[in-house]
Amino acid sequence: MRILITGGAGFIGSHVADFALGAGHEVAVVDNLSAGKRENVPGQATFFQTDVRRRDEIMKIFREWRPDVVSHQAAQASVSVSVRDPLLDADINIVGSLNVMDAARAAKVRRFVFASTGGAIYGDVPEGRRADLSWRPDPLSPYACSKLAVERYLILHRSLYDLDYRILRYANVYGPRQDPYGEAGVVAIFLDRMLAGRCVQVNAMAREGDDGCVRDYVYVEDVARANLAAMTGDSMPPTANIATGIGTTTLQLVRQLEVAIERKVEVRHAPPRAGDVARSVLAPTESAGPSTTLSAGLAETLRWFRKRRETASIRP
Ligand code: NAD
Repeated sequence: MRILITGGAGFIGSHVADFALGAGHEVAVVDNLSAGKRENVPGQATFFQTDVRRRDEIMKIFREWRPDVVSHQAAQASVSVSVRDPLLDADINIVGSLNVMDAARAAKVRRFVFASTGGAIYGDVPEGRRADLSWRPDPLSPYACSKLAVERYLILHRSLYDLDYRILRYANVYGPRQDPYGEAGVVAIFLDRMLAGRCVQVNAMAREGDDGCVRDYVYVEDVARANLAAMTGDSMPPTANIATGIGTTTLQLVRQLEVAIERKVEVRHAPPRAGDVARSVLAPTESAGPSTTLSAGLAETLRWFRKRRETASIRP
């Protein structure tokens, strides 16, 4: 199959590209490198550096490269940025996605896989519960609104234009290649700081000093595998939660990282952040496959971050 991945120079998209190539598919990546890196794009993939908001260029790429399926990962992926600048968020995440959908429709793409958010779309999940697909979305940020809007457009595109889709609602994804300098990606941020011997900040869930927000941490390779299944098979339902079903507080995450790294860290407590969901735990869709345990995933991620530091320190 010919698989086109938008955002394939980013954290999750580059793992999707690796998995697709590993399974013998041809891969093209579309990315404007605003957050992604050229070195994340595998050498065997065709690379188009452009912005999903550039409609004519996107149409041309689809017309000429002719993908069979699309995995649409490109996005403004930060909740905080969306709270500060909802117009930018809507421009990239809604208008940009509509461009990609339109190009996919014109090029008669067989299936459109969309990276949505289970972590943000359901809003606060009460203690003891896990959000399943029957839950009514309750976006608490412009980012969650834009993801929900695209989900709705996809459902419409199927009925109006016969564009087949799969929506993957990811929980909180972590793993190698996640950017530690952004505002999202707490595992990457903490690992980077801990390896540098610096303190970490726990933003409170409700009041300063509590154990922080509850998140469902899912390993990036499980997410990439789910993307491949969604693109190439029929096991995945139209909408799926890609998650573990296990809730972890930010402080529990710090403690697990301390075990992995074999070092204690200074924890600073800070107030809750605007737009952040307090508790997010999802009921995983079974056909998405088994998930990597948090300790195994953190060990792999730590290995990668250690290696990255070593390589950086031997650079002139
Ligand atoms: P990322 O920032 O690493 O990847 C996004 C990629 O999209 C980057 O390479 C970036 O350069 C590219 N991009 C951004 N704007 C673009 C534009 N206008 N045109 C072309 N390319 C553009 O983020 P990620 O964590 O890999 O997220 C991938 C997808 O998964 C996003 O859609 C995100 O919303 C979604 N998601 C991520 C998580 C998570 O925990 N990381 C959770 C739920 C959903």
